[in-house]
Amino acid sequence: MKCAYTCDLCGAALRDPASRFVVRLELKQAYDPMEIGPKDLERDLKRELAALVRAMEAQPEADAERLAEEVGVSRTFILCAPCAASVTKRLGNRPPPSRNE
Ligand SMILES: [Zn+2]
Repeated sequence: MKCAYTCDLCGAALRDPASRFVVRLELKQAYDPMEIGPKDLERDLKRELAALVRAMEAQPEADAERLAEEVGVSRTFILCAPCAASVTKRLGNRPPPSRNE
């Protein structure tokens, strides 16, 4: 019988699909909300947005994908039970990252 899943970490075949674990990773650049002042309200946002769209359209597709990945990536991984336990243990043993690093 062909197995439908393999572990993305160790490559083990997952014969029982119900035994798999799913890790969803979302990594994105930190973003602090902007403060809007009176000068911002005077800006020609339609013109600025049109210029931004033109600049993005002028980018080769490979550059656009690279730029998108610099801002953030999202991935989904399938793990076997031992790898899921290992990841959980490693995450549990790490202190939360400091905002000042
Ligand atoms: Zn595994």
